[in-house]
Amino acid sequence: MATATASILLPKTKGGAFLIEERLPNEVFTPEDLTPEHLAIARTVDEFWAKEVGPNVEAIQHHEPGVAMACLRKAAELGLTGITIPEQYGGGGAKFFEAILAVEELSRVDASAGVVVDVQNTLVNNALLRYGNAEQQKRYLPKMAADTVGAYALSEAGSGSDAFALQTRAVLKGSDYVINGRKLWITNGKEAGLFILFATLDPTAGYKGITAFLIEKDFPGFGVGKKEDKLGIRASSTCELILEDCRVPQENVLGEPGKGYKIAIETLNEGRIGIGAQMIGVARGAWEFAAKYTQERKQFGKSLSDFQGIQFQIAQMATEIEAARLMVYNAARMKDAGVNFVKEAAMTKLFASQVAERVTSLAIEIYGGYGFTKDYPVEKYWRDAKIGKIYEGTSNMQLATIAKLVLGGK
Ligand SMILES: Cc1cc2nc3c(=O)[nH]c(=O)nc-3n(C[C@H](O)[C@H](O)[C@H](O)COP(=O)(O)OP(=O)(O)OC[C@H]3O[C@@H](n4cnc5c(N)ncnc54)[C@H](O)[C@@H]3O)c2cc1C
Repeated sequence: MATATASILLPKTKGGAFLIEERLPNEVFTPEDLTPEHLAIARTVDEFWAKEVGPNVEAIQHHEPGVAMACLRKAAELGLTGITIPEQYGGGGAKFFEAILAVEELSRVDASAGVVVDVQNTLVNNALLRYGNAEQQKRYLPKMAADTVGAYALSEAGSGSDAFALQTRAVLKGSDYVINGRKLWITNGKEAGLFILFATLDPTAGYKGITAFLIEKDFPGFGVGKKEDKLGIRASSTCELILEDCRVPQENVLGEPGKGYKIAIETLNEGRIGIGAQMIGVARGAWEFAAKYTQERKQFGKSLSDFQGIQFQIAQMATEIEAARLMVYNAARMKDAGVNFVKEAAMTKLFASQVAERVTSLAIEIYGGYGFTKDYPVEKYWRDAKIGKIYEGTSNMQLATIAKLVLGGK
């Protein structure tokens, strides 16, 4: 059992800044089997983010120029952009589990910060580490561990859940592939320097034509289009990508031509654990604000927390968070242990996003009318929670995977 103390961001703001208080790590939020090293990671991210992002959440949400990028640069300085990249390339050399902890802690303060770091580590760096050849790893991993932001471009206007119906086409001409098409909804699109982009070599070949490419933002013919105006995770850019005769050197194929579907499936399986972590971070953040508020707000001459009806709501929320958190940690540990975790990852994302939506919604109700205004933090958590049921496979797609696996399919 861990005995060290972990700093927990408490839901009180003074002059816009979050206050930090010490709590025993196994007090409600932290499962007892977190090691002191894990707690140290959580604490570092926690304290850093409280300082850098906490006071800026408002500004970031309203897209004040430069604020999000400044936070991103600070995140890179702390090593959050290359958590699992080996030390020889300038990364943290940590396990997937540690990246998951960082995503959770970041999302507790701001889910946009969480998804930036999530896509970077669980999708882009992960794919480079698993499928990049020695030359690609040498070229790109040091940049990713430093300050290059990564993006993962699979979806298109006509292909979301049916991802392998993508239409972006790559044709080999001489030593380059020439790529034409459009990608939609690409997280980090505005800030990214490196894109893992999926295109088909042969639209009639179905999934077997799909190929992954490493595309630098300055490659000729590559452009970033419209940035979406979204309900939640507003500080995370979500952009269209435009490829018009974009020339990509042959050596920038990631993995083998025609095997991109495998890269997409496998990295998204892992990415889903990251979205689960983002969702429990969001739920914890909202819960902490709500729990604190029940002690501050008085009605009928008592604190809200004196009413059993409110106590039960807080207890139910805490229980659901704990269950989702253990699912996330279990799936991440299974991945690190090298055992099959596909079912657990799908269940984790499905359940954690349900919990996040329920908990953030109840947090608004606990704040009463104040919760419905932008003067208080909980409505943002609720808006941020919604995306968990949509990206990296909708809830229905997770259910389809789970159903296939529990009913004995492959
Ligand atoms: C903020 C944001 C960030 C994103 N970031 C990225 C990114 O970085 N990279 C990337 O590649 N993509 C990204 N996406 C895209 C995201 O992964 C897709 O939006 C998602 O996979 C759903 O696809 P769709 O929007 O086309 O919905 P559709 O596939 O059209 O689905 C619409 C509805 O139909 C349901 N449905 C579809 N097929 C079935 C079925 N067979 N059975 C039952 N129900 C079904 C879905 O569950 C959903 O409810 C992002 C999206 C958003 C909104």
